[in-house]
Amino acid sequence: MELRDLYEEVILDHNRNPRNYPYRPPGANHHAHGFNPLCGDEFQVHVKVDDAGIIEDVGFEGAGCAISTASASMMTEAVKGKTVKEAERLFHAVQDVLTDESAEPSDETLGKLKVLTGVKEFPMRVKCATLAWHTLNAALHDQEGTVTTE
Ligand code: ZN
Repeated sequence: MELRDLYEEVILDHNRNPRNYPYRPPGANHHAHGFNPLCGDEFQVHVKVDDAGIIEDVGFEGAGCAISTASASMMTEAVKGKTVKEAERLFHAVQDVLTDESAEPSDETLGKLKVLTGVKEFPMRVKCATLAWHTLNAALHDQEGTVTTE
């Protein structure tokens, strides 16, 4: 299947049926609020990190366009069960592959998230795709206030 077709299929699926949404895990201990003024996407990300530094549970609330919602949904699936360090690595990998023209997606790191690179065909929407990841990163760092994609 072409990346483009796969991209559309995955985005549609996750947008129709977002995982871990609207969801605030019981005992969530890290939170952040993210906003993409270009599109109006707005999410709260809630993360429960255990004593060993493992992301036990994660969910998001709020509203956004199809791409931002699908990306947030995929983000929650991708980081659940991972360590905070691994989640940070994934955030940087996604960020790099979506914002750096020359970055080559590494299948090994990105796994299923590779499909997100389809958004590069629509440069206006890249910030929609990265919003949930910025918000996750802010939550893990206990950043106060609202994270914006600007
Ligand atoms: Zn958007």
